[in-house]
Amino acid sequence: MSKKKLGLNTICTHIGEIEDQQFKGAISPIYLSTSYAYDDVEVKRYPRYFNTPNQEHLAKKIAALEHAEDALIFSSGMAAISHMFLAFLKKGDHIVVQNTLYGGTRNFIKSEFPKYGIEFTFTDGYQPSDFEKALQNNTKLIHLESPSNPLLTITDIKAIADLAKSRQIITTIDNTFASPINQNPIDLGIDLVMHSATKYLGGHSDILAGAVAGGKDHIEAIWNVGINLGGSLSDFTVWMLERSMKTLALRVKAQNKNAKKIAAFLENNKAISKVYYPGLKSHPEYKLAKGQMHDFGAMLSFELEEGIDVMAFQNQLKLIKPSMSLAGVESTMLLPAKTSHALLTEEERKEVGISDRLIRFSVGIEDVSDLKRDIKQALKHSKATTLA
Ligand SMILES: *Cc1c(COP(=O)(O)O)cnc(C)c1O
Repeated sequence: MSKKKLGLNTICTHIGEIEDQQFKGAISPIYLSTSYAYDDVEVKRYPRYFNTPNQEHLAKKIAALEHAEDALIFSSGMAAISHMFLAFLKKGDHIVVQNTLYGGTRNFIKSEFPKYGIEFTFTDGYQPSDFEKALQNNTKLIHLESPSNPLLTITDIKAIADLAKSRQIITTIDNTFASPINQNPIDLGIDLVMHSATKYLGGHSDILAGAVAGGKDHIEAIWNVGINLGGSLSDFTVWMLERSMKTLALRVKAQNKNAKKIAAFLENNKAISKVYYPGLKSHPEYKLAKGQMHDFGAMLSFELEEGIDVMAFQNQLKLIKPSMSLAGVESTMLLPAKTSHALLTEEERKEVGISDRLIRFSVGIEDVSDLKRDIKQALKHSKATTLA
């Protein structure tokens, strides 16, 4: 059967599985060897070479899901990002990075790139003109994130890919928030797609991993750097990730469906002043999101009205957990101003649109009626009593 014809759930379940020839077991065996014979293979197998049986096979599943020729699995999302950037950037090169960006990526660029003599520009906004304005003669790479964290802005992926192609610039995207179920940037002309597999690919908040998918030549370039940097993933976790990904499409589609209902519910609630979700018609890039995504994902943010005590609301939630991370099957919430963006000054937060009343919501697979009930009772019990 050709890969193209297979449905998403079939790819998730079967692509990249290792046949158990010895015992005919139903699932992939796990190969934990760090030492392999060297007689008949061209590239010797070694976990740091990204080529153990489990690593090679799982890469096929991720490549198939991202419509890519090849992929590599890493020990974390940050390992994926750092290996990817360092494979293509050298002293004197310049990278353009979307302003609204995962905090760890921003930190990596700001604290490490000066040591390597790599120049960088953060865009002023996320419109194609903002990217164009940031380009220099020595720009080698453009990195974007859509939907972005935590305000779910949508970048015109194809427009950025076209802009970059006309100038021979490599494009990379952080596709973590969308997951390959909701968005395939390679089809829109992006060269390399990376994931924090810690999030949707893992999906159970118990795996730290990363992945990059793209064309063979680009992946080979990352591999060449990767064997020196050493950011591969242990085979035990690779095997866990393969197991988790069998339900990726099922999970993400259930989460999409829940998020859509929750977004509408929040938008119609008087205690909520604003909802950020690309699947709402009120979202400024709703049409763009509809055009470039298969579905709108399960991440959203909302702002509480002045009359609600934000901390009390969070503490009153019974089912929905406060959590730093996201994308598990369980619903979680986070206050960006107190966590991911706590190091910014109040002024800086204001500039990027993150209010102290903003809550990021990673919608899980629970029954949506239970989630709504939990939010309703928490709102009821968190009306501020000290209002002037
Ligand atoms: C979590 C995350 C990362 C970093 O991934 P780790 O697995 O924590 O290293 C990168 N990008 C986004 C959008 C993330 O949410």
